[in-house]
Amino acid sequence: MAKGRVIIEAERCKECSLCVNACPFGVLRISSSINSRGFHPAEAAHPEKCTGCRLCAIMCPDVVITVERAS
Ligand code: SF4
Ligand code: SF4
Repeated sequence: MAKGRVIIEAERCKECSLCVNACPFGVLRISSSINSRGFHPAEAAHPEKCTGCRLCAIMCPDVVITVERAS
């Protein structure tokens, strides 16, 4: 079971990919969907691999990502 869970506010994402590149475990990717601002938001492609390390949330310049840690 994943140790963490990422919550991404897709409407606020600007597709900069910093979170995708920051994740050491390849959890995130840029999705094929488009938000109302015309960007492809980040999404968790492999949520089962998330460790809850929060690197993605720290890297996001717009604080779009929240990470919940499994207890
Ligand atoms: S919390 Fe860590 S493991 Fe989970 S998606 Fe973010 S960077 Fe990757
Ligand atoms: S770092 Fe933030 S704004 Fe950039 S792609 Fe990831 S969630 Fe979107």
